[in-house]
Amino acid sequence: MSKDLQKRFDVLVVGGGPAGITAAVRVAECGVRVGIVDDNATLGGQIWRGTAEEQGQEEGTKEAARWYRRFGTAGITTLCGKRVFHQPEPGVLLAEGADDLFELGYRNLVLATGARERFLPFPGWTLPNVLGAGGLQALAKSGLPIRGKRVVVAGTGPLLLAVAAYLREHGAEIPILCEQAPRRSLARFTGALLGQPGKIAQAFELKRNLAGVPFAANSWPVAAHGGQILEGVTILRAGKSQTVPCDYLACGFHLVPNIELPLLLGCQVNSGFVQVDDFQQTTIAGVFCAGEPTGIGGVDLALVEGQIAGLAAAGCRAEAQELFGARERARRFARILDRAFRLRPELKSLPSPETMVCRCEDVPYSRLQQHSSWRAAKLHTRCGMGPCQGRVCGPATQVLFQWNPDSVRPPLFPARVASLAGFRGAKPEQSTVAGGLG
Ligand SMILES: Cc1cc2nc3c(=O)[nH]c(=O)nc-3n(C[C@H](O)[C@H](O)[C@H](O)COP(=O)(O)OP(=O)(O)OC[C@H]3O[C@@H](n4cnc5c(N)ncnc54)[C@H](O)[C@@H]3O)c2cc1C
Repeated sequence: MSKDLQKRFDVLVVGGGPAGITAAVRVAECGVRVGIVDDNATLGGQIWRGTAEEQGQEEGTKEAARWYRRFGTAGITTLCGKRVFHQPEPGVLLAEGADDLFELGYRNLVLATGARERFLPFPGWTLPNVLGAGGLQALAKSGLPIRGKRVVVAGTGPLLLAVAAYLREHGAEIPILCEQAPRRSLARFTGALLGQPGKIAQAFELKRNLAGVPFAANSWPVAAHGGQILEGVTILRAGKSQTVPCDYLACGFHLVPNIELPLLLGCQVNSGFVQVDDFQQTTIAGVFCAGEPTGIGGVDLALVEGQIAGLAAAGCRAEAQELFGARERARRFARILDRAFRLRPELKSLPSPETMVCRCEDVPYSRLQQHSSWRAAKLHTRCGMGPCQGRVCGPATQVLFQWNPDSVRPPLFPARVASLAGFRGAKPEQSTVAGGLG
């Protein structure tokens, strides 16, 4: 392996969303050598996708522009388009790019791997043009023409509102926005926002952008219809079913944290989230975690946790401590989110026996019903063993059957054979910049 492909950092950050960017900036500003790796072509994660210049022009992204500016002058080594898939030995991660393999050595590590959408299977959910809500937004951001298209937005969580507002602003028609949460939970959520001044402003802006869009609480999709492509969606709206013609269904049931890498490294996970101490350190010494993997809390929590993790990983614990109050305020919002958008039990009966649950390996609901655990289902049906490695069907079976994966094995993502064989265990050059690592 060429030396260019072997890199060693005092602190390595995995994940270039808000948590990873703020972590890397704070590490670098402490004078410690830091690298950041992300699998997308540019930094930004789910919410700040795009370049600094584009971000600066968009309303509501001033915070992003501020962090991009600091990032640009901090001297951070950035590796985009590289996906971390293995830890062959403690202190070394392997990341695969389009046609290369990187060996990334570290003394301390910050995991900021974010979250993905939760999908729940229902009849017709595999039809073309049934997409994740955030997924459709990402496609629209990368050029999918959406003007004049009818998009039903459905599922649960505040992301639905953000997506509907974005699509509408870009010319889509939203015939209905369905939220499974009961009206009283939403009322409590709105009441709780009064204690979060920053969120009130966002809520008013969303309300203005969505004026005139029919909003239905207590409602969710039960079937998607169409021949070769989606033509309409049947929703259950306050107990009555109604079919709505549409071009797209943007559907997601809140978010699930990306905890596969922390699990591979041996970090303790509680109730689905990575366990961290006050300084965002996991149960593995020198491995920190920030953002959605420690609890779904939105961008404000990701920003403050990223900073604490970065400062602590760089050994600047006193500065990290100054941010504990801000983190507690952001965590309050995370708890409110969790209560308001809890999934209702009726969603467990959405699939019919023929509904595909594992779409990579074509495993229908009826075959899974014959098993009592994720492991048994994997062994007998290949559920979760396709290209997505259970990232879609795993969280779905957690809701449907309360199954939990009991182990994570490398490679975390499908990788080239050459990459799997490529690690020779050669020690990369040692760091030349000493950092005050804790
Ligand atoms: C699809 C989607 C759309 C969203 N849209 C919005 C929105 O419009 N508005 C809003 O307020 N909130 C949105 N959110 C929520 C938002 O993601 C969070 O509030 C915030 O971005 C969390 O920041 P983060 O840094 O923790 O994670 P993220 O922003 O998710 O960043 C994590 C990064 O780590 C990368 N990564 C993960 N694993 C690896 C690996 N093994 N190797 C290399 N890179 C890796 C990911 O690709 C990603 O770029 C969205 C969430 C999702 C899932």
